Amino acid sequence: MPHTDDDRALILDCDGVLADTERYGHLVAFNQVFTEFGLPVHWTLDDYRQKVLIGGGKERLASLLTPEFVAAAGLPSDPAGQQAAIAAWHQRKTEIYTELVTSGAVPPRPGIARIVGEALAAGWRVAVASTSAEPSVVATLERAVGDDLAAQVKVFAGDIVKAKKPAPDIYLVALDWLGLPAGQVVVIEDSRNGLLAATGAGLATVVTVNDLTKDEDFSEAALVVSSLGDPGGEQTTVIANRTPATPGGRITLSDLSRVLSGRQGAPMAKATSADVENVVHTIASTAVENEKYFGDLDSVVGDGDFGYSMARGFELVISGWDDFDRTDIGTFLKKVAVMITSRIGGTSGPIWGTAFLRAGTTAGAVTELEPAQVVAMLRAAAEGIKARGKSDVGDKTLLDALIPATDSIERSLADGLDPQATLAAAAQVARDSAEATRSMEAKRGRASYTGERSIGTLDAGAVAVAVMFAAVAGLPPDPLPINPA
Ligand SMILES: [Mg+2]
Repeated sequence: MPHTDDDRALILDCDGVLADTERYGHLVAFNQVFTEFGLPVHWTLDDYRQKVLIGGGKERLASLLTPEFVAAAGLPSDPAGQQAAIAAWHQRKTEIYTELVTSGAVPPRPGIARIVGEALAAGWRVAVASTSAEPSVVATLERAVGDDLAAQVKVFAGDIVKAKKPAPDIYLVALDWLGLPAGQVVVIEDSRNGLLAATGAGLATVVTVNDLTKDEDFSEAALVVSSLGDPGGEQTTVIANRTPATPGGRITLSDLSRVLSGRQGAPMAKATSADVENVVHTIASTAVENEKYFGDLDSVVGDGDFGYSMARGFELVISGWDDFDRTDIGTFLKKVAVMITSRIGGTSGPIWGTAFLRAGTTAGAVTELEPAQVVAMLRAAAEGIKARGKSDVGDKTLLDALIPATDSIERSLADGLDPQATLAAAAQVARDSAEATRSMEAKRGRASYTGERSIGTLDAGAVAVAVMFAAVAGLPPDPLPINPA
């Protein structure tokens, strides 16, 4: 669909955003299923606080299946039999939930019908992105905004993506359908998992907290409020505001526009010497902390020394930390490069050292970097690695994560994303790209001696780059499994 720079879209989460579905809908329906199927379990509201951290209803049910529970409930021991049981419970749970919603037992949240009406009237496109079952989402939406408005809202729900929130996948599918840059789309979520999914897709996010989520960490949110508020009804309390919006008793469409203009109009932050030092220190600590993981990755087809070499080399970077020349960013990076080249063993030292050297040379004698300079440094690092390793994209090396992540940073900056959203999106791209090295055949390095045998394994260097990007973005560790499940 063709779009212009003026097009805007609003994407809403379902549960907890459209209505208080978790407490009054899903929890009630789960417990009724347990009773109907004679299962030896009942979830209290406190139990359920933990379960809502799991995205997807089938996934929440699957969390019951401890060996003790399987025995007590008389379930089949084989995975296929258990999956069939979960599917049957979940189907019945969706029916019960839908009945609860249509009966009016699940109250819509304040301001939802109002904001959806305002957005559609102003020509915004509106979608719902949820990892709950589609019939549940549609019923909740119709009840919250009425059938007429609901018919104009696109629903993305259920199992259309494999990785549920906090993975960004459902938002990436919605963005793809909208055909809009991330900088023109605002999201409303109510939970940390939802917030991470939306910001992972590079989207500005407003959080409307509720009973089950109010104590969660929402530091990546643009705006955090008690609810959207309604005139004459519940009034909005602002909990955190990192936007130019100045909400009154209710969140209006112009507040949502300001959330977006805040990203596009804000002067892009520069990276300081301290930022660069933080990134280098994070890379070094990551190499040390992941010695075993990186080594295990490498030992599948390589000689297994990657984790050890990286950890020993970067350990020396950390122990010599205070002595590096910090006259300017270029000098600092070049000093680190010399240490890495000389102290990391095997083939990795020259490769990683070259990357730091080229980045430092490109930075030059400055103490601040424009975002475009950061991209140029990453490009120079990648070119240095290509030349030194005689390798390119597709050869199953760290370039297969570094270059897509750099492309992502460049796109995010063009879309006007803030530094945090830019890093989070790049980390996700690096991770997906590292995962994609499984299907590649190694052409370079020790792994190439094993030829086709390398197919099906992750490239250790690409995974290291992904883990480092995630650490720099401040994301929790989420290692890719060495062998696919
Ligand atoms: Mg939610």
